[in-house]
Parts: sequence; C-alpha cells; structure tokens
Amino acid sequence: MADQDQDLLDVDPYDPGDGSLLVFRWKQAGRDNLATRRQLREMGLRPGGQEPVARIECRGGKRFAWLYRIDLAKPKRPMTLAKEAALDKAMAARQTCGTCRRRYFHCLPLKTLGSCLECFDGTPADPASYIAPPAKHLLAS
Ligand SMILES: [Zn+2]
Repeated sequence: MADQDQDLLDVDPYDPGDGSLLVFRWKQAGRDNLATRRQLREMGLRPGGQEPVARIECRGGKRFAWLYRIDLAKPKRPMTLAKEAALDKAMAARQTCGTCRRRYFHCLPLKTLGSCLECFDGTPADPASYIAPPAKHLLAS
C-alpha cells in the first residue's frame, strides 16, 4: 500500500515506532522537497512554523535531523531585509551624483558641491568607486 508520502519522497520509509513520522537513513532519501533546518538556512529560508514531516537518521539513529518541506518554508528575516532596503534607499540618495547619475560606494559632498568631484572640477573618479548609471538598486528590484 503506497501512501502519498512514499510517492513524494521516492524512498522506502519504515515505521519509526510511534507511527507519526517517516524516517530515512542518511543519504538514502531522495528528498526533492525536503530539507533539514540547516539546509533551509543555507537557502535563506526557515521552517516558518511547520511541523517536521520526516526525520533523517545517520548511523543507527545516533544522529538525526528533522526534515521540513521546502515549499512551506518562509524567507528568513523579512523585516531585516525591508530595513536594509530602506537604509539602502537612504544611502543611495547620498551616494548618487545628481549630474552624472553614477552611484558611488561612498557618500558625496552633495551639500557643498552638489555633484561628484569629477562633475565638479574634472577630477577623474576611480571606476571601481561607483556603479555606472542607470544606478541599479543593490537590494530591491
Ligand atoms: Zn558626477
């Protein structure tokens, strides 16, 4: 009797004892839609409140990790990203030359010069110190 979890995972789960979770031996599972908490973190995700759907075991169950569904995982730290995007926007205003629209990696003397040094007096700017226009937003699209 094949259940849908077995179809989803394409492995041979055996009864963990309490009947509640699938258990896989390490490296055995073809876990297309499953990941450990650590693997989720590497993908920039977090379990997001879901219960683990399976357990993966290594060396006779001495080491194990919970497996979570990737499609139910949530992005990690959305608030921080939003904050960084807002901060980046504020920084962009202070780093972008109003004349040539280059965005520099440092703040410009916009209050005194109103532009970058190259636009102000012709001092060549180091090409490594700015992003050529059109200025690309670093974090948000
Ligand atoms: Zn400029």
